[in-house]
Amino acid sequence: CGIVAYVGHREACPLVIKGLKRLEYRGYDSAGVALMNGQGLRVYKKKGKVVALEHELDGKDTHATIGMGHTRWATHGEPNDVNAHPHYSFHRKLAIIHNGIIENYAAIKQALLKKGHTFTSETDTEVLGQFIEDIWENQGGTLENAVRLALQEVVGAYAIVIMNEADPTQLIAARKGSPLVIGVGENEFFLASDATPIVEYTKDVIYLNDYEVAVIKDGTLKVVTLDNTTTTPYVHKIELEL
Ligand code: GLU
Repeated sequence: CGIVAYVGHREACPLVIKGLKRLEYRGYDSAGVALMNGQGLRVYKKKGKVVALEHELDGKDTHATIGMGHTRWATHGEPNDVNAHPHYSFHRKLAIIHNGIIENYAAIKQALLKKGHTFTSETDTEVLGQFIEDIWENQGGTLENAVRLALQEVVGAYAIVIMNEADPTQLIAARKGSPLVIGVGENEFFLASDATPIVEYTKDVIYLNDYEVAVIKDGTLKVVTLDNTTTTPYVHKIELEL
């Protein structure tokens, strides 16, 4: 039910955890993070409160300047460690977090199963992650294009963020129906379900529109529509003080 992501020069993990705590009021049953540490893209997730996730992170290498976190309100699959987000796809080493519901996930899952995909969770989210990965692998273009093409087929509501190991400065985000805010700092970007995790770092925010994809890479932000028209996002100055 909550999303926080960061890329820049700060330590991503404590920032993401703090942000998830700010979003706790939305309610959730499990929490998880994905971080790009010295070893690569790593996913940690746990049923229960954000504190349970923090215990899970104890003693792990959480040094990273890019990361994302999620609190889940289960809609497809019971609340447990495996169904918690992020969901990781092994072929292309990508991780996805998602708020919302992919209504046509069963049909997409059937098609992927026929192609030999296997799934570890019962979630609609893992299906979307593997669908994006499958398009990326088979059409040979960029991950950004695969995200756009996959979302053109999706019925439902979503706010998603995707990281992948091959692009260690990149966050890709998209939304339809579920909120997603982008905080724009000095050579750093924040993503969150609402502005509360962001305001202490920057007052400049962009409210991503439905059917838009935000691509943050090498310190720059680009926003495109699902049919690949580049849009010029409006940067709001927020007054909110915490
Ligand atoms: N439908 C997804 C799931 O059940 C996301 C739920 C949410 O919005 O947290 O895993």
